[in-house]
Formats: sequence, structure tokens, C-alpha cells
Amino acid sequence: MKTEWIKKAPENVSVRPNLMDYEKAYHAFKWEDVALQFQGLPSGGLNIAHEAIDRHANGALAEKNALVWLGADGERREYTFAQMKQESARFANVLQSLGVGKGDRVFTLTTRLPEFYIAAIGIFKNCSVLCPLFAQFGPEPILQRMKKGDAKALLTTRAIFEKKVRPLLDELPELQTVILIDAPEDESGKIRSLSALMAQASDLFEIAPTDPEDMSILHFTSGTTGMPKGVVHVHKAIYMHWMSGKYVLDMHPDDIYWCTADPGWVTGTSYGIIAPWLHGITNIVNEAEFDAKRWYEILQNEKVTIWYTAPTAIRRLMRLELDPLREYDLANLRLVHSVGEPLNPEAVVWGVEKLGLPIHDNWWQTETGGIMIANFASQPIQLGSMGLPLLGVEAVIINHDSSSGVFEMAKTGQKGELAIKPGWPSMFRGYLHEEERYQKSFINGWYLTGDLAYKDEYGYFWFIGRADDIIKTSGHMVGPFEVESTLMEHPAVAEAGVIGKPDPVAGEVVKAFIALKAGFKPSEELRKELIGFGRQKLGAAVAPKEIEFQSDLPKTRSGKIMRRLLKAREMGLPEGDISTLEH
Ligand code: ATP
Ligand code: MG
Repeated sequence: MKTEWIKKAPENVSVRPNLMDYEKAYHAFKWEDVALQFQGLPSGGLNIAHEAIDRHANGALAEKNALVWLGADGERREYTFAQMKQESARFANVLQSLGVGKGDRVFTLTTRLPEFYIAAIGIFKNCSVLCPLFAQFGPEPILQRMKKGDAKALLTTRAIFEKKVRPLLDELPELQTVILIDAPEDESGKIRSLSALMAQASDLFEIAPTDPEDMSILHFTSGTTGMPKGVVHVHKAIYMHWMSGKYVLDMHPDDIYWCTADPGWVTGTSYGIIAPWLHGITNIVNEAEFDAKRWYEILQNEKVTIWYTAPTAIRRLMRLELDPLREYDLANLRLVHSVGEPLNPEAVVWGVEKLGLPIHDNWWQTETGGIMIANFASQPIQLGSMGLPLLGVEAVIINHDSSSGVFEMAKTGQKGELAIKPGWPSMFRGYLHEEERYQKSFINGWYLTGDLAYKDEYGYFWFIGRADDIIKTSGHMVGPFEVESTLMEHPAVAEAGVIGKPDPVAGEVVKAFIALKAGFKPSEELRKELIGFGRQKLGAAVAPKEIEFQSDLPKTRSGKIMRRLLKAREMGLPEGDISTLEH
């Protein structure tokens, strides 16, 4: 990739970067200093709910809005830190009354309702384990995950329950209670009404001593490369959430923050619940699904200052012919972040042109629990790069091959697998019931991420592709991201997914699936033009030899292009686990 820097936001935008010299801060950093930010429980230990909600509710922020909820039907509700403390205490008491205790898994299957956010904090208070699922999952993925996660209780709505869960009850004998958010009364000893339970519960709850290593969240991965894994996280992860909230997301006390991710995906918990509340800032929650106009209105009307979203959403905004800077007042917005997939340089440039702000890419995984590599608020952005390692995070590129015993650190600019030194606080503590798989993700004291990347002379990391997605064509290794990003520079291309198609001569040939922007139609002429465009920009060895138009590319619920599915379909092979496929 070529090096192009965006050194600062355009003059008309007021950015308040951290006054941080990255190098100095990186070397001086100590996790012990982050520990000082937390109050600790009166009874001892560290609990997410206390640090995120109760300590603010007990202090100066009691009457400040913690949650501003924007319902899909236009309703708007506000909850202060004091209210969140009381309501979550009630929910913790509800769990106690139902016999749900420490370590027990409480699944949730709802849209982004206030009750979900209250329940999440209540679950942490009770030292139970939050397992959030996407409300749009069908019965099969729900069953798979609830079985694998040993679900003891489920919070959901009447409609979702009737349609998807009631038929599964016989297969879930361990499931003791289903709590229905919108049922006015209990149906049976097993199927209960949230409002009836909450009405009987006290709003006082003393959090039991919590070990920082106690399990807090069980998250299933996005399923981009195969069957989703159950990833175990602990209360101590808040060290990472607090620190990345400060240095990457640049949270300040008066910020209004909006993370668009659903809590069915790790971004929606680590940064859609925990990080903003650790910093005592107002968190916007939008119940509705993607809608460009509504999104711009939220940014404008709620006076959002920090916005955390994903490439899939940005590409959808780019597809439309809206001019947000002219049509909306986005003067309060000062920082935009993105995670989940590589952020095409085109998208960063679009941000500068259309939002007046560059978009800051950052990289992490369900397994890492928090942001690991980022374009910091305070640092220049390198177009197309994932950025610099977080403070306290040691990231390297490794070349390894178990069959030949090769294990070496890559040199600057050399490609290899991205690996991280274990020990960062939000590191996953296991794949649930898959100990062997967990052990296999470490080599010689390093956690292997499964992603290929390289580090440049400035210390910035560049994503090449998932190890599984790398294309081997006529002796070249091609990362799909580079090809996709180049195709996106063409004015007709909204989205591209690139795979290696088996070929008897070349091993694989590069094939691109392309979704077009509004106003463009697939044609033989355009196909030829795009092939020529690719050749001219990438050279014949790397450019796609085949192009196929699709109206939309298959994606996971968290918005990632499923290249393995494009490939399986291309080859007429079984599609594998598609439980997370967005329909
Ligand atoms: P599964 O592990 O089930 O296949 P998944 O890896 O997509 O699913 P997540 O943990 O949600 O599940 O996603 C993490 C992965 O997403 C990373 O390993 C990486 O491949 C990709 N990713 C996330 N952020 C970025 C980014 N900024 N740039 C490039 N890739 C990213
Ligand atoms: Mg993964």
C-alpha cells in the first residue's frame, strides 16, 4: 500500500486530541496506573456494574443521563445513572429470586431495548454471565448457542419467544426461566413477566465480592470463518475498556457518544455499554436498524460528539447520494471510529469530504475483548492502515510453520501472522468447552490472531487478510483487502468481495464479486471496464480475472463480508455454518 497521511482534520472542525506523545506514553504506560481509576467494591474486588454505573450514581453524576434511548417507533427515553443503578439492582434481585447465581449464564435475545441495558448491568451485579444474542437469529443458531453456553435463564420478548424459542424448550432442559420483557403477567413457573418480577424486587442490591477474574460475558464470534466460538471474558476487562475509551475513543466528561453496534457482537458490549459508562458519559442507543437519514438525524439532534461504527455501515452511507455536511448540522461531531473489517482508504477520504472528519480505523477481535491496534485520536492517520498498538499491548508479526518448525519475528514490511503478547486485561480466558482449541491459539508465548498483516517503518500495522482468505495465484500471495480497496476506487463500485477460485494452471485465480452504487447497472461493458481498471491499478498478477455482479454481498450479522460463503457458492460446495448470515 502507498503511504498517504491525513495529519489533522480540516480547519473548520474542532478536534480535541489527547495531549499525548504516543511513543513516550507507550513506554511509560503501566496497567497499575489504570487500576487507580477504579473504586473497587466496598465488599472487595472489581465489578463492571459498580465501576460503570453505581459509583457514578453514588456521586456527582447521579442525575446525569447515562442512557438516551431512541425507540424504533420514535419514542425517546432518558435514564440517569441513579435510575440505572436502581433498575439494575432490581434486576439483580430478580435473578436472585429465580435462583440464578454466580457464573450462571443469562442469555438475552432482544432488540436494543432499555430493559436489555438494565438487565446487562443487573447480570454483572449478580456475578452471573451475560450472553447476548442477535434478536434476528433464527431458531437453529439460538439453540446451538444456548446449548453450548449452558443457558440457565433467557430474557426476550413475547413475539421472539413464541416464534423462535417456545418450539425449542424441550431441547433446552437446563433452561430454568424465560423472562418476557413485554408480558404483563407470569404465564407459568418457567415463563415469567419482567414487569411483575421487577415490581416485587427491591431497588437495593449489595454486590457480592467479585474476583476480577470472575466470568462476566460469554460472546459468540461473528462466524465469518466457520462455526462461531464461545469466547469467555472476565470483569477485569474493564481496564482495557477504560484505557481505550480514553486514548482511542478520546472520551471526555461532556461527550455524547453513539456506538452503532448491536450487543450481539462484542463491539456492542465492550463499547456499546461498558466503555462509555466507565467514563461516566451519555450513551445513545438506537433501537432501529440502519437507515441513513435517521442516522444523520441522530448525529444532529442528539449532538453526538463521538461516533463508533463499522465499515459496512460507512459503505452503505457512501452508496447514497446524500450530502450530510450540507443537509445536517454535524457541528458537534468531532471523532468517528470504525471497526470490524478493514476500512478502505476510499472510506476515510469519504469521511473527510462528507462528514468533515477522517474515519479512524481500529482493529480487534471478540477474543481480544477490546481495541488492540488503532488510529489514535491524537495521531496522524495513515490511509488504509489499522494504526498503532494500544498502550500496554505488544503486537508483532510472526512467521511460523508447524510442519517445518519455523518460528521467527518478521522484519519491517514483511508479511506474517499478527500476534499479541498474552496478559492484556481483556484477553479472552477460553473458548467455552473447547480447551484444546484455546491452547492451539498460542505459540511460543504469543496469541495468534489468525489475521495476516505487516508493520511499516512508522510502527503502523496494515491488514492483509484473514489467513483463511489469502489467495495463492501463480506463486503470488494476494490479500483480498488490497484488491477490494482498489476496486472501490472506481466510481461505480459500492462494495467488493474477493476470493481465490481454484484453477488448474494458476492454483487460484482472483475473482471479485461486486455490488454497484445507486445509478449503475451491471453490464458486459462495465465488467470489462472494471477488469481493465483492476489491471491498470494492481498489475495483471494481482488484478481480478473474473468479475461477477451481485446486488448485495453475503454478510454476517456484525456486517462482515463472508468470503468463505462466496467461495463455497462459487465452487458448489456446502455452505457450512451460516447461522450468522444476515438475510
Ligand atoms: P469468526 O472468528 O467466527 O470467524 P470473526 O473473526 O469475524 O468471526 P470477530 O471477533 O467479530 O469475529 O471479528 C474479528 C475479526 O474481524 C478480526 O480477526 C479481523 O479479521 C476482522 N477485523 C476487525 N477489525 C478489523 C480492522 N479494523 N481491519 C481489518 N480487519 C478487522
Ligand atoms: Mg475470528
